Amino acid sequence: MSVETQKETLGFQTEVKQLLHLMIHSLYSNKEIFLRELISNASDAVDKLRFEALAKPELLEGGSELKIRVSFDKDAKTVTLEDNGIGMSREEAIAHLGTIAKSGTADFLKNLSGDQKKDSSLIGQFGVGFYSAFIVADKVEVFTRRAGLAAGEGVHWASKGEGDFEIATVEKAERGTRIVLHLKSGEEEFADGWRLRNVIKKYSDHIGLPIELPKEFHGEEKDKPAEPEWEVVNRASALWTRPRTEVTDEQYQEFYKHVSHDYDNPLSWSHNKVEGKLEYTSLLYVPGRAPFDLYQREAPRGLKLYVQRVFIMDQADEFLPLYLRFIKGVVDSNDLSLNVSREILQKDPVIDSMKSALTKRVLDMLEKLAKSEPEQYKTFWKNFGQVLKEGPAEDFANKEKIAGLLRFASTGEGEGEQVVSLGDYVSRLKEGQDKIYFLTGESYAQVKNSPHLEVFRKKGIEVLLLTDRIDEWLMSYLTEFDGKSFIDVARGDLDLGSLDSEEDKKAQEEVAKSKEGLVERLKAALGEQVAEVRVSHRLTDSPAILAIGEQDLGLQMRQILEASGQKVPDSKPIFEFNPGHPLIEKLDAEPDEDRFGDLSHILFDQAALAAGDSLKDPAAYVQRLNKLLVELSA
Ligand code: ADP
Ligand code: MG
Repeated sequence: MSVETQKETLGFQTEVKQLLHLMIHSLYSNKEIFLRELISNASDAVDKLRFEALAKPELLEGGSELKIRVSFDKDAKTVTLEDNGIGMSREEAIAHLGTIAKSGTADFLKNLSGDQKKDSSLIGQFGVGFYSAFIVADKVEVFTRRAGLAAGEGVHWASKGEGDFEIATVEKAERGTRIVLHLKSGEEEFADGWRLRNVIKKYSDHIGLPIELPKEFHGEEKDKPAEPEWEVVNRASALWTRPRTEVTDEQYQEFYKHVSHDYDNPLSWSHNKVEGKLEYTSLLYVPGRAPFDLYQREAPRGLKLYVQRVFIMDQADEFLPLYLRFIKGVVDSNDLSLNVSREILQKDPVIDSMKSALTKRVLDMLEKLAKSEPEQYKTFWKNFGQVLKEGPAEDFANKEKIAGLLRFASTGEGEGEQVVSLGDYVSRLKEGQDKIYFLTGESYAQVKNSPHLEVFRKKGIEVLLLTDRIDEWLMSYLTEFDGKSFIDVARGDLDLGSLDSEEDKKAQEEVAKSKEGLVERLKAALGEQVAEVRVSHRLTDSPAILAIGEQDLGLQMRQILEASGQKVPDSKPIFEFNPGHPLIEKLDAEPDEDRFGDLSHILFDQAALAAGDSLKDPAAYVQRLNKLLVELSA
């Protein structure tokens, strides 16, 4: 044992403590994953060393044979992992192995319910990392030295995984990290060559550098060499460099877990080698669930970038548009220079062509998923649909393609679930229909009974029901699909085109003429509140509705703008009444102007309520209504 100096005991950060506790008590059913996590870290550490050595070859300290070694001692009940990667300085070890929780940890912990069963499946989704060592070990020791630091600046970190850890400065001749796991009683099975080999094959075969185990020794004990012979147990070639046909689904899935730090399987992936003017390989994954920080602007996103197999950076976000920020994976380019930086990436025209090709790949992959695995696509849509809806605004060139991937609730099917595609809708168009009708609103419950739908129900025409906050904004970017334009049924003067027969139209004109007097009276009564009053042809059951002016902001957009503190331009609705409704007939026949005025205002306010809007003067509404009720019962 070498001399330890500057020894101190430090407490784990609160979040780390909670996480450790949870992990130790909930991941008992799949303990072997600790090895995958530690190998994944070792591989990352080697990637980082390779990258830093591009600029500073002296970091390799003469040893450029990068590898991971896993050994064990049955008697001492230990498993040891050793890598010759970048290593950690004392400050780094303190920060990364105890005092800085991974980003998202706090959010994650907030989501816990306290219900052991639910929480154990949640932690599974979180990505467990270094601390998973404590699933099988009751003491973990880390010996590490940052490449480039002197041998005397090694670090010894040790912890029992409870409240604190010890850290000391020690001598360490080789750069890199050695982790010693002191197995808990009951976990001795891992101090076994056969067991370790199987776990490595299962989870870490895709790792692009050799993982070695000591070769089994069959001779007599006295002949056993002091230093074992080592044997490589994985394939040790970067997974994306292999031909597709030589990679199994399980290997693709394990590789996904390595690059994404996700614990679950991806929904889908796409692996492509591009040759020609540009040369690169990409392996892109659609995750099975949304990360906690999907909507946080600053959240890390992007692909792992390699140049000619050399790791360059994590989270290279220049290769995909923002609306595909949930995609994980790797891109390995032969065209970029090894000393490419983020600044260069932002300017390089090569990146632009790669970005548009990769974007198309992802959209194709989603199309394929939707077609061949509709159930999986539903999961995708639940998790990422809202993000994909940002697409038409961000990516004009792929607008139609993105539109085809969108899913909506509809009067046609799904009972409020977002399952109807625009393709489905178009395939069900009524004879004579050349428009796609939609209605936006706050919730499915609110829009499904909207008076705006009455005429569509009567004629059996499907209407898309859009209730996500950003839907109205989305629809301002979508003007047509498959040559059919979109019509907001709550907007303007609804013209059903050839869906109304010539007789219908004639009858409508006649009714409108006969009600000119009522229109004028209503205009006078409602005054400044309305932009226009007119006879409606879209109502069967309701007395009146409010339509939005063709150019005006709808309710959702107004609410979004108001919430963000912006000034909302004034706009007045159009009051449309149903001439055949008994209430309107009564109104028409009302000789008393005061009562006419009260009734008109009540109808106006009710129409606003039915549209999901709030009343400007609710007290006045209640007063008028009560007055009428009193008269009624008198
Ligand atoms: P993640 O891998 O998602 O960053 P981990 O909990 O697995 O989270 O690891 C935490 C951090 O500890 C790593 O990001 C890295 O900085 C450091 N680390 C872990 N293992 C090693 C290692 N073998 N060599 C160098 N640094 C390591
Ligand atoms: Mg890790």
